[in-house]
Amino acid sequence: MALFEHPDFDNHEQVAFHHDKKTGLKAIIAVHNTNLGPSLGGCRMWPYASSEEALTDALRLSVGMSYKAAMANLPQGGGKAVIIANPREHKSEALMHAMGRFVDTFNGRYIIAEDSGISVQDINQMATQTKFASGHHARYAINDQKPDGNPGPSTAYGVFCGIQAAVKYVFNSDLQGKTVAIQGVGNVGLRLARYLHKAGAKLFVSDIYEENLLIAHKELNATIVDNKIIHSLEVDVFAPCALGSAVNKDTLNAFNTKIIAGAANNQLANPTMDLALMNRQITYVPDYVINAGGIIDIHHQTIDGSNDANLLEQVGNIGSTVLHVLEQAKEQGLPTQQVANNIAASRFS
Ligand code: NAD
Repeated sequence: MALFEHPDFDNHEQVAFHHDKKTGLKAIIAVHNTNLGPSLGGCRMWPYASSEEALTDALRLSVGMSYKAAMANLPQGGGKAVIIANPREHKSEALMHAMGRFVDTFNGRYIIAEDSGISVQDINQMATQTKFASGHHARYAINDQKPDGNPGPSTAYGVFCGIQAAVKYVFNSDLQGKTVAIQGVGNVGLRLARYLHKAGAKLFVSDIYEENLLIAHKELNATIVDNKIIHSLEVDVFAPCALGSAVNKDTLNAFNTKIIAGAANNQLANPTMDLALMNRQITYVPDYVINAGGIIDIHHQTIDGSNDANLLEQVGNIGSTVLHVLEQAKEQGLPTQQVANNIAASRFS
């Protein structure tokens, strides 16, 4: 498996692979850039089909974290961890302890937090082995949601503010009566659905598991849609909130939406997709711009003397950042992701 020649290597500072024989842990930590501060990024637990797939995900996700932190003006670098296993079947306290020990070998150059498949409880278990774990300090509340360290509520609120801004920009309207298709109603997607419902949007939802779909249907009157067709629905907004690559060569021509804006990291299967979306006159809100609420929340968990209002304000500002990127893209005649990349890279390079 080539590393330095990997198409997503992108000048990573450090990539480490770890196998713990006793627990069966197989994990990768990728540190992309620490110019602005220690690298911070969630840990994804997923049953990757191969180590190549896991490595690609880790590399792409950690690059995204460098851009995300810089775009949100945080004193942090970008890094990410992946555990190759099924979170519904293979979790154990011993496995999380082993992961904590792996994180500790980075001596603070990488700080772990939650991502898909990893809960506050998992982070608490890792934190018994390393002090470089975050996203488990119950600090400031976002919109009255009881804080427990999970950055998901802040991510969801930031994505909501970003969607509001994009809808205002494209349709010059609010969300009342707008249609939104959400792919993946997990930790973030379901919370986002609640905000959108409250704002008057009509929802379509898909997932590979049933539980949250039923909640969204019952509680929010959302229409449950087959996962294979969710991206092709005729809607005002398509919100990818599952894993990566929702925009790929197979889905590109099937989109029937004006806006793509959601929580998922790495929504574009490859960098050329932003130009392809622009050519299709679909407004793409770059993923790391709109989903920065979680990293902002984790940053606030480290600030003594912050408060609920400060957190709410900084996450809410994602709306203005989204608007700025969309306006700049129009002015410069460039795809939105390219514009965002230029702004972020100028800060961390
Ligand atoms: P999650 O695991 O709680 O939710 C993901 C959901 O997507 C799950 O319900 C899963 O069943 C579903 N899913 C998986 N594959 C799918 C597919 N092919 N089609 C439809 N649904 C599918 O994770 P989360 O914390 O809600 O994160 C969702 C996305 O947002 C991830 O890409 C994550 O990296 C990103 N993100 C999360 C945060 C955060 O604070 N949790 C912050 C920034 C970005």
